[in-house]
Amino acid sequence: EMFGQLTSGLEAAWNKLKGEDVLTKENIVEPMRDIRRALLEADVSLPVVRRFVQAVSEQAIGVGLIRGVRPDQQLVKIVHNELVKLMGGEVSELVFAKSGPTVILLAGLQGVGKTTVSAKLALYLKKQGKSCMLIAGDVYRPAAIDQLVIVGEQVDVPVYTAGTDVKPAEIARQGLEEAKKKKVDVVIMDTAGRLQIDKAMMDELKEVKRALNPTEVLLVVDAMTGQEAAALVTTFNLEIGITGAILTKLDGDSRGGAALSVKEVSGKPIKLVGRGERMEDLEPFYPDRMAGRILGMGDVLSFVEKAQEIMRQEDAEELQKKIMSAKFDFNDFLSQTRAVARMGSMSRVIGMIPGMGKVTPSQIREAEKSSKIMEAMIEAMTPEEREKPELLAESPVRRKRVAQDSGKTEQQVSQLVAQLFQMRVRMKNLMGVMEGGSIPALSN
Ligand code: GDP
Repeated sequence: EMFGQLTSGLEAAWNKLKGEDVLTKENIVEPMRDIRRALLEADVSLPVVRRFVQAVSEQAIGVGLIRGVRPDQQLVKIVHNELVKLMGGEVSELVFAKSGPTVILLAGLQGVGKTTVSAKLALYLKKQGKSCMLIAGDVYRPAAIDQLVIVGEQVDVPVYTAGTDVKPAEIARQGLEEAKKKKVDVVIMDTAGRLQIDKAMMDELKEVKRALNPTEVLLVVDAMTGQEAAALVTTFNLEIGITGAILTKLDGDSRGGAALSVKEVSGKPIKLVGRGERMEDLEPFYPDRMAGRILGMGDVLSFVEKAQEIMRQEDAEELQKKIMSAKFDFNDFLSQTRAVARMGSMSRVIGMIPGMGKVTPSQIREAEKSSKIMEAMIEAMTPEEREKPELLAESPVRRKRVAQDSGKTEQQVSQLVAQLFQMRVRMKNLMGVMEGGSIPALSN
């Protein structure tokens, strides 16, 4: 699994919050340490990790309580949002020229997958209905030209070659001329890769760039190189000015550092990612999907989002007041049960909770059944009883009536009443924790 180590490193953080009621300054210390460690092990650079951890901590402390959402789930959501931000937020689309051919200049060190990307990109654009042409600009390795011709044939895209005796900038000019003649939509130029950055390489790229006036200058970087990839993007951008990066070999056992660092470190977005050796394995870089994959918990994210939505829709303040004054009654109990129901069927909700993947279908049915039983009993109460649970607590006669009207046992009704008072206590305690104050004395 992609970034598996990072994913399991982060899991340690969520696990430390099991059994907590709310995120606090104290109980996030350990999880934040896990997050920090996981990111460093994924080869994200230290300053980036520091800023990330700081941003997550601040939000975690201030996030407050969302009904039905556990603190570990809240933290997952916050980390997700920050990961998306870190990777640039929105997907960064390729830009196309308004008139004439769109020119894409590819640069990169040797072996990063540049030649492969040239053909992959051509195929990707062809699928969008654009005609393409490749230009072979690596004049130092005849084998590189041959290789481009071969991959060009594989995706059925013409390759412009001029041998190894012509200067790359001149090849660029000739190739572009040819593309204009043939009314090609997109020209992709492959350039020479070196083992490391040197002045000759940069100078040559600058010349080629001047000759082409490209719409996009994309640096191809290898995900396996981690934060080094981010440093390369920065250097190339300062030297020649680039519009973005293409991250290759994301299918390998890369740790994630490159995907997470490139935008933050260089200011330039990752536009596309290579996820395999096949020509089809190139796709846009979606920060939100990437974050979702890293966390491996797409379901939890949508669950928390839905809960937040419902929370906003309802009068949160009203509820808070009730909790503060211990007036949480059966009406609130009912609307809370229904709010959870609205988040999707009970079974889905349970399935979404991390660490609860092993819940059996029979346990799910059990949970659904007990919430139906609760509803039936609350519906059998008078409006007065719903508002004043004390009435039921004090009167066995009332409890018996509710039991009869709902078709449940008196014991079940007693349990429900006890549960409501327990919830009042729990909520009051929770408020105490959240305000950093002491736990208020119980009165009922
Ligand atoms: P160049 O020197 O930058 O032109 O690199 P090549 O295009 O020749 O690629 C170098 C090696 O990396 C080749 O064996 C490619 O098949 C492989 N490669 C390129 N992109 C990917 C990718 O996204 N995933 C995997 N697994 N291999 C890739």
